[in-house]
Amino acid sequence: MTSLRFNALELIQKREITLPRPTESPRIPDFFGINVFGEKAMQQYLSRDTLKQIKKAIESGDQISRGLADSIAGGMKTWAIERGATHYTHWFQPLTGSTAEKHDSFFEVKDGQPIEVFSSTGLVQQEPDASSFPSGGIRTTFEARGYTAWDPSSPAFLMESRSGTTLCIPTIFVSYTGEALDFKAPLLRASHMLESIAAKVCRYFEPEVKRVTATLGIEQEYFLVDAALFKSRPDMLLTGRTLVGHEAAKGQQLEDHYFGAIPERVKAFMIDFENESYKLGIPLRTRHNEVAPGQYECAPQFEEVNLAVDHNQLLMDVMEKVARRHHFKEILHEKPFAGVNGSGKHCNWSMGTDTGTNLLSPGDTPESNLQFLTFFINTIKAVHDHADLLRASIASANNDHRLGANEAPPAIISVFIGSLLSEVIEEFIRQPGSDSARSKKARDGEFGMAVPKVPALLRDNTDRNRTSPFAFTGNKFEFRAVGSSANTAAPMMVLNTIVGNQLAEFSAEVEKRTKNGNHQAAILQILREYARDSAAILFEGNNYGDEWVEEAERRGLKNIKTTPEALDADISAKSIELFERTGVLSKREAHARHEIKLEIYAKQIQIESRILGQIALNQLIPAAVEYHNELLLNFESMMAAGFEAEANEARDYIGRIAVHISKTRTAVLSMIESRKLANQETDAKAKAMRYCHEVKPHFDEIKYHCDKLELYTDDRRWPLPKYRELMFVR
Ligand code: ADP
Ligand code: MG
Repeated sequence: MTSLRFNALELIQKREITLPRPTESPRIPDFFGINVFGEKAMQQYLSRDTLKQIKKAIESGDQISRGLADSIAGGMKTWAIERGATHYTHWFQPLTGSTAEKHDSFFEVKDGQPIEVFSSTGLVQQEPDASSFPSGGIRTTFEARGYTAWDPSSPAFLMESRSGTTLCIPTIFVSYTGEALDFKAPLLRASHMLESIAAKVCRYFEPEVKRVTATLGIEQEYFLVDAALFKSRPDMLLTGRTLVGHEAAKGQQLEDHYFGAIPERVKAFMIDFENESYKLGIPLRTRHNEVAPGQYECAPQFEEVNLAVDHNQLLMDVMEKVARRHHFKEILHEKPFAGVNGSGKHCNWSMGTDTGTNLLSPGDTPESNLQFLTFFINTIKAVHDHADLLRASIASANNDHRLGANEAPPAIISVFIGSLLSEVIEEFIRQPGSDSARSKKARDGEFGMAVPKVPALLRDNTDRNRTSPFAFTGNKFEFRAVGSSANTAAPMMVLNTIVGNQLAEFSAEVEKRTKNGNHQAAILQILREYARDSAAILFEGNNYGDEWVEEAERRGLKNIKTTPEALDADISAKSIELFERTGVLSKREAHARHEIKLEIYAKQIQIESRILGQIALNQLIPAAVEYHNELLLNFESMMAAGFEAEANEARDYIGRIAVHISKTRTAVLSMIESRKLANQETDAKAKAMRYCHEVKPHFDEIKYHCDKLELYTDDRRWPLPKYRELMFVR
């Protein structure tokens, strides 16, 4: 019997391991960044004056003049063409979640002569035919055009493939009325806002600080599945996850995969995509096996937040392309398999100054400790006050499978700081003496006594809590609840906004309470109040336990398990006020985004539901029916031959198969009925709610019966690659 599944398995047996491509040099520094128009290329291809001006513009965020843009475009063109580029594209991040590009050739015919051109116009602005990108109603047809605009803070790069090389220019994507249609524009707004207020707050402690940057290091988890098996699973092909599939006899229970030896074929793939990433200036440092079979992780060194986000988007593209060469499919879905761990994307976040201080790293003097505590406590307060917005920023149909499931940070947002810091903070809140006594002490130069001591090198002491959605890890916070396929610009935009907003409130309060120019007493007093006010968000225990769910409820923390409800926070009066006041999103933009997320949610569940129905009706039931009928014939011959007792046992078995076949069919039909009702809804929220609470619940029942059929049916007849094959064949 031939089937896609067995053809795939046979193909894999015969296949040889693809070796990594040779690189320019065995040493990474020799080829790191060669495909980036960064510092080194700019020095070579731009005049000294142009270089100086562009650097200044990037630092200040000022507009770049036409003349300057022309000089840059000239140098960039020469650099790109010398390296084989024939086309250029604006590279942007529409709200679909993936990246978008539209290629234009450098080539042009002028006065009958073929020439290669690239001017400031091509660099600075493009008009992709963007009417089919989601806009949440912002671009009604009469103003259908959107345009992409150059983001000079993220360097241009060359995307190489066997079919040619393209110059990619990172851009934002906005409508003609100036509204953001992408992930990047609001992230840039939020980062600028945070960075300027953080620099101001910093100067209470280090007057020489000019600039603060938000930093981000993203750990990326993913699964690898053989491409041939992947293509034999319609559910994986269309949704990125398995909608049916019985657990393999062996899963992750032996805990033998995490940090285990990396299989040769996987390692070859890793080396290949790492080298491609190095050429693009992505500073990857770590690779290892993850907990689930077939699951892996990579992580780069941290960078400025906007660049780190771009690099992660680029990395996902590169991995996908390189995987193809190795006959792998890279799975970024948050929950491709039931019963084993899902994948996340841990966002390690901090802020650093141009003087080299990490603002979330404790120092060894009272002054530097107070600076640390300022940023530390303000971040906690921000998360406490806007936990629901942070929750909304990571909500998606995919991530719903992780959050709240018994294996991932729960949907309750809480902050873990470790036992040492917990004691410090408790002590800080409890400190005896009235505020006036303390400020007197501070005035008298005994300020060091009032500042709690935080040991330096905390980094090595902090205990790890792998169950916390938002954990302090010694010199940074790690937002762990972000999904593996997400564009991290969304959660980072929210984090930067809420912390920036919090620091602005803090700074205003400090100014108000400062007397005689001595900020320290006021700072101490305010921080103590903040620590007290946000204590409810701190949790050191096991986030996966049922006790925490109850405890969180007592504390008044929200536990919103599904996306349509979680997204409400995006457009609450409080959030809109916050976004508008900080200038990160207008009300219209916030509403548009909210609507897009709801639409994407409903469409995803709709696609899952359709493909699940098709697999069940067109593939699994027919396979089970064939086997059922074969058993029936066998039963009849047993009866005819007089094996009555044995035949009766067989009849039970046949009966069970018949029951699961019929239950599968009934469940699919009733899912289709629910879908019809959901589709009649015109309001985005109502539709998403129906998909979430009326269509999706059928999935479990269908899966249950299909998985039983998988167990009972002859293996040779089963059309879909099984979990053991998807996870263990490599
Ligand atoms: P850990 O052992 O805590 O996971 P790593 O040093 O491996 O620590 O860091 C994990 C990620 O956090 C890496 O991407 C790393 O670059 C990043 N990271 C480290 N320091 C910072 C920082 N100050 N700001 C942002 N990210 C950081
Ligand atoms: Mg990890």
